[in-house]
Amino acid sequence: MEQIRVRGLVVRETQTGEYDKILTVITEEMGRISVSGKGVRSLKSKHMPATQLFCYSSFVLRKSHGYFYISDSALIESFFDLRLDLNKLALASYLCDVAAEMAVEGVGDEELMQLTLNTLYALANRKQLALSQVKAAFELRCASIEGFRPNLAACDMCNAAENKKFYMDVMNGRILCGDCLRNVRHTDDLVDDGTAHIYLRLTPAVLAAMQYTIHSPANRYLSFTLPEDEMKLYASVCEKYLLNHIEHGFYSLEFYKSLL
Ligand SMILES: [Zn+2]
Repeated sequence: MEQIRVRGLVVRETQTGEYDKILTVITEEMGRISVSGKGVRSLKSKHMPATQLFCYSSFVLRKSHGYFYISDSALIESFFDLRLDLNKLALASYLCDVAAEMAVEGVGDEELMQLTLNTLYALANRKQLALSQVKAAFELRCASIEGFRPNLAACDMCNAAENKKFYMDVMNGRILCGDCLRNVRHTDDLVDDGTAHIYLRLTPAVLAAMQYTIHSPANRYLSFTLPEDEMKLYASVCEKYLLNHIEHGFYSLEFYKSLL
């Protein structure tokens, strides 16, 4: 039987039998896959260390009847410190839910894999980073690499890039200056098509942070700071942006928020 070697991050687990679970794994090579973890919850299983939630592991798999089965496994990184803090654990669950949603079955996605690993690493190890910053930056960058990259360079209508107030047009993935927004709103009022548009006022620092989030190198994308008030605005814009494009919420997000 054909053996497949992959490196993957366990993003979800569903317990089935007494010692079994089904794993959702995102991989560089094959995108999202379902892996049958028969017996892996037993302390005697040699696959137990590599098959825990949030573990990044190498697997040798064989495929049968639509499922992958584990022939061999080795843990690469467990992101152990995520498990020491309930808020971090809850946030990691949400980030992994988003990654699982964005990953396509059978289609490799190196950028998404790298983003998710970098973010879990930062969440586990960079103690000075605010969770709200990690969450928001992941949301915007993830949306951006998965086909929803907003145009933040200049006003989408008049091309003005500075000396203006800018607004995020969430549904259309663009920014508008105050003058153009007034015109757009006027037109919206005349042609009421029942669509609720979301326009969010951005400060120059928040807009710069959003541009940085999208265009910075993958391993540096969390390396920015904002004053507390502006971090709140940044967090709110990034969350609205992602959820609007995914078009649904997440239980893991509700749970994370219930802890705050
Ligand atoms: Zn404009």
